[in-house]
Amino acid sequence: MSSLDRHHPLYSSCRDKSAVPVDSSDVHELGEQPLQGLKLASQAVLDTAQQRGRLKCSKCGGSRMFFCYTCCSLVGVNTQDIPVIKLPVKIDIIKHPNETDGKSTAVHAKILAPNDVTMYTYPCIPEFEKDEVVLVFPGPGAVSVQDMIQCLRDRSNNGSVDPFDEPCVKRLKSEVQTPTHTAKDPQSGTPDEAKSSESSVNPLRRVVFIDSTWNQTNKISTDERLQGLLQVELKMRKTCFWRSQKGKPDTYLATIEAIYYFLKDFHQHCLGQEYSGEYDNLLFFYSYLHQLINKAKTSAGKC
Ligand SMILES: [Zn+2]
Repeated sequence: MSSLDRHHPLYSSCRDKSAVPVDSSDVHELGEQPLQGLKLASQAVLDTAQQRGRLKCSKCGGSRMFFCYTCCSLVGVNTQDIPVIKLPVKIDIIKHPNETDGKSTAVHAKILAPNDVTMYTYPCIPEFEKDEVVLVFPGPGAVSVQDMIQCLRDRSNNGSVDPFDEPCVKRLKSEVQTPTHTAKDPQSGTPDEAKSSESSVNPLRRVVFIDSTWNQTNKISTDERLQGLLQVELKMRKTCFWRSQKGKPDTYLATIEAIYYFLKDFHQHCLGQEYSGEYDNLLFFYSYLHQLINKAKTSAGKC
């Protein structure tokens, strides 16, 4: 088989895991069937397309099923038959030029959230605003999604973009429970009101993901244009990726999983809203393909 290892290394093994408690919802997600219970649009259209088999992409002529990973367009499936997802922040995906596009799940995001996702092929990447953009990468100064917004605000206030500054997460641990309003401010009201006013000035505009193998991801993350960005790591999640490689920890997520889990955390912890499946359809293709592969494995008697 191929060397499919385009996982997103979101979880740094050298960090203190005990500092990041795993809540009960995570335990559920780490269970046997993490892709069960998603609120997905009907996948009947994928059943039909799958039974018909591969078709030629009208743009590049490549043989494809569901979508063309080279052209980022649908193949044998109509736009109105697939869900379109509105994201709360813009997502930029930087992919390595040497990787085979067919291995990437990043294209799922571009197809399902076309208005909010932009793909770049390294080294062609834009300049990013340091106090409005984060990079999802488990570097030494990486913070959690929960602490990210406050860290961005601190940067903006201090004018500091040095990633080797005192990590703001350490201070946050003690400050995070403190109400942000002062006693002399009669408008500040309850903690809930304070929270909602905080989210209204959410500085995050753009989230950058790197879509490549681990070695290449390291190289891209040290590019000077990404160096000053606040790095964010996700809580430990196990991948459902069917292309798991020997020797790769199962906490290396496929890019689409990483985007999904980031947005879920963002929704709950940064927007302060209850999560009720808003971004589940990002896994529209992923969960279907996952199911197909599992069925194939079962019928082949491999598991
Ligand atoms: Zn194509």
